[in-house]
Amino acid sequence: MRIAIISDVHANLEAFQSVLTDIETVGVDKIFCLGDTIGYGPDPEASVTLLRERAIPSVIGNHEKAVIDFRFLRGFNPVARESLQKTIKMLSEDTLRFLGGLDTSIVAHGCRFVHGFPLDSPMTYLFQVSEAKLHRTFAKMPERCCFVGHTHLLECVEWDGDIAVTSELTRRTYRLNPDRGYIINVGSVGQPRDGDNNAKYSILDTDENCLEVRFVPYDIAAVAEKIIARGLPKSHALRLW
Ligand code: ZN
Repeated sequence: MRIAIISDVHANLEAFQSVLTDIETVGVDKIFCLGDTIGYGPDPEASVTLLRERAIPSVIGNHEKAVIDFRFLRGFNPVARESLQKTIKMLSEDTLRFLGGLDTSIVAHGCRFVHGFPLDSPMTYLFQVSEAKLHRTFAKMPERCCFVGHTHLLECVEWDGDIAVTSELTRRTYRLNPDRGYIINVGSVGQPRDGDNNAKYSILDTDENCLEVRFVPYDIAAVAEKIIARGLPKSHALRLW
């Protein structure tokens, strides 16, 4: 079975559409989304609508949490908060209700899907987690593989039952060891922070036991222009480049 994992679309409709087209070209059986479909970008309503039209199961991200419960806004830096306050005004009641109904984790096909960190945190960043916490988490996680987003970086933590080794991922196919545990960060579709301006997503092949990291070009200029035209923080447009 081939499973595409997307995360952190961040209202970047052009990047989202380009990734979906790429997924159609290479062919998968299922797509899962790790949350943060909104925030930063100019098309939050259209991005969530597309997610729903394609019936892509999604967990909740910290940006979704902030628009349905304003107490979570306090956890954001001032620029991200400004963008979220504008985002809230761009969302329909129906979309807000949909986002409020998202779960913190999904378990399917022997994998776990969560926005931040297993077992089910939308808030914890992978880079914040101590070695000891990694060990405890792998020891209690029933699934062999957990997919996360949230940091917008491409990373893999491999656990052999004793030691957890973290490495960066790049555009290639990786063979996974069936006897090891993994926490895999698939990076971001719509707001990459890994030093490369393509949209990122990954495909897990459960029969071949491999993970393919894919980079997808999209029309960055169109999105950057829309961010500025809609009065969202200019830094979120510049960052796309
Ligand atoms: Zn995010």
